Amino acid sequence: MVTQVQIIEWLQVFASVIRHHKEELTELDAAIGDADHGINMDRGLKKVSNILPSVEGKDISSIFKTVSMALISSVGGASGPLYGTWFLRASSATAGKQELTATDLSEVLKAGLNGMTERGKAQLGDKTMVDVLSPAVVAFEQAANEGKDTVAALRIAVTAAEQGLQATIPMIAKKGRASYLGDRSIGHQDPGGTSAYWMLRSLFEVLE
Ligand code: ADP
Ligand code: MG
Ligand code: MG
Repeated sequence: MVTQVQIIEWLQVFASVIRHHKEELTELDAAIGDADHGINMDRGLKKVSNILPSVEGKDISSIFKTVSMALISSVGGASGPLYGTWFLRASSATAGKQELTATDLSEVLKAGLNGMTERGKAQLGDKTMVDVLSPAVVAFEQAANEGKDTVAALRIAVTAAEQGLQATIPMIAKKGRASYLGDRSIGHQDPGGTSAYWMLRSLFEVLE
């Protein structure tokens, strides 16, 4: 079970990991975008971090809703609405819940990804965060269906996310600013995929 206290811990860890990786994310975006992904994410997660004490004791769905609003109103760029949508769908998937089973978490990951792809229209192989989250969702669901517990399933999902992230390096970007570069986007790791990897990895680290 993932409790609402652990969900808040996760989001605080995610915020601090983004703070620590702000320069790295911005450097990745400098290579194939406009050098602001670290700045955008850090601004958003700082807002999330400041707002989390106000949702202590609330159900998980309310926490996700609050996070979504904070991200939508502060991250900006392409990634703000996409992460905002992820958390909004996560909120819908967890209505009234105080804790999540592995199956619940699988639904959250699926709902978040579906929201993101409906909004951003990125497909697998387009060199976006979808290339990181999608393999993780598949891996988590399969592991949960096999009866693995949340931590074990998440360990497998984080490994799949890491492989997905590495796989963005040789891809040609088809969405967002990096797509303007065409072939010149080859050889660079996707910044949004990198932050998405940290999002999952942070959850694993809190639960482990
Ligand atoms: P911007 O490109 O507007 O400056 P960011 O730098 O914050 O925004 O975010 C860039 C990241 O957003 C990319 O690395 C990519 O992972 C992600 N991204 C861009 N467009 C899309 C899309 N349509 N679908 C999914 N992810 C996308
Ligand atoms: Mg950018
Ligand atoms: Mg920008």
